[in-house]
Amino acid sequence: MPKFYQRKIRGWRWGLVALALIAVAYAATHPAQIFAKDKEAGGLAGINVGQIIDQSGPVVSILYPTTENDAVNAQIKEFTDSLLDGFMKAYGGEGEAAFYVTFDKFCFNGDIVSFRFNTLAATDALAHPAASQYAKIFDLKTGEETPPLSLLNDPDDLEGFSKMVYEHLKGQEPFKDNPNEMEMLFEGTAPVPKNFRNMVIDHENLIVLFDAYQVSSGAARVTEAKIPLENAEPFLAPRFHKANASAAEEPTGNAIAKEEERQQPAKGGYKATDKLVALTFDDGPSPLTTPKLLDYLRDAQVRATFYVIGKNAEHNEGLIKRAYFEGHQIGNHTLDHINLRRLGSDGMAQQVSGADNILKGMLRQEPSTFRPPEGAYSDEALAYLNGRPLVLWDVDPVDWMPINRDPQIVYHNVVDAVQDGDIILLHDIRETTVEAVPLIIEKLKGEGYVFVTVDELIKLRGNPDDLIIRGYPNPGLTP
Ligand SMILES: [Zn+2]
Repeated sequence: MPKFYQRKIRGWRWGLVALALIAVAYAATHPAQIFAKDKEAGGLAGINVGQIIDQSGPVVSILYPTTENDAVNAQIKEFTDSLLDGFMKAYGGEGEAAFYVTFDKFCFNGDIVSFRFNTLAATDALAHPAASQYAKIFDLKTGEETPPLSLLNDPDDLEGFSKMVYEHLKGQEPFKDNPNEMEMLFEGTAPVPKNFRNMVIDHENLIVLFDAYQVSSGAARVTEAKIPLENAEPFLAPRFHKANASAAEEPTGNAIAKEEERQQPAKGGYKATDKLVALTFDDGPSPLTTPKLLDYLRDAQVRATFYVIGKNAEHNEGLIKRAYFEGHQIGNHTLDHINLRRLGSDGMAQQVSGADNILKGMLRQEPSTFRPPEGAYSDEALAYLNGRPLVLWDVDPVDWMPINRDPQIVYHNVVDAVQDGDIILLHDIRETTVEAVPLIIEKLKGEGYVFVTVDELIKLRGNPDDLIIRGYPNPGLTP
């Protein structure tokens, strides 16, 4: 290791140790202040602060809560002992080392209190101090610990809950418009118990705590999801519903913050009165043409909707995920691209659910919309969509026809026909179509159009009971 680098680390480390010594000295001489401050901030009667300080080996400072319930105190002691044991086993024997534990408390009501323990280990062996967080939830009346997953109605079924946590975070920074962070978030919120083993609850929020690198990169450092109880309630055991919460704390600015949250614009920030257009791409994905299209869309910051064939999706999971993480909508275009009117009821059901299942396996959710091959459907086919809209189009440049396989022709067929609220039918398996896309985007952006997904178009212009959608032309808004 070059000398200057070593010096830098040593200097940094001694800075940390100095800080720790100051903190330890302060805590040792001012326990009353810490206690008093804590009481003011928390307001839950009977929670005090205890402290372990040890400088005989590595520098150790552990602040821990003490309550009026001895059974709870014993469990907290056992837990902090295990934290210290873990640190000593991992780093205790090596050179300079320091270990700090602090905690925060969260009151759901007078009985249910959660603690978040924050640990920081700094040693010669670590390039950076290692920070971790752990959750403990207790019932101060019974003395029992509630494992975080027991907050949930059904700890064995994390599907819906994990999806809610993912949806809560994905529209926010740093995930929004960032496929790499989005993919980490997707993996880190997969419906498995280890992803949700640390959660705390107060009278307004359920807070899911994440490990470093669980849902975001080191640079982004997302360590929690703070979910309003109203949103989390469908997944919470009844005794953790908001009706049973009580504010043991002073009112804060949260009510104001919440109102601001509600007034956030919809994803993309578009309004129903904007000039809207939805690009849709059918019959892919194809490893030959779809990657180029995704590059064009990314560079133009345009989101589109892909009606994919189940069998093609099955062989190109990477492309499906890329499109999804880059913000595009994925729709169902049947399993094998068979005209539904040529099929009996079993065949129709199989074509719809076959593609649903493949996409659900990749994206953990069924596509929200369906497009029938060749636009052919029947009332019977609609019954297999379980209420999801069947999406057609109102601009068709007939880009698949051999005579039209030229980017200039596709471009003119689109831009000469388009009006506000249209859904444009294109095929991403055609190279000539893909090459027309940057031209179409540039022209339509110049005319003031904004590009939305089909779901966004329906949300902005449609009605919840629209079952067959061909676009929402709004001639009144188009010059
Ligand atoms: Zn098709």
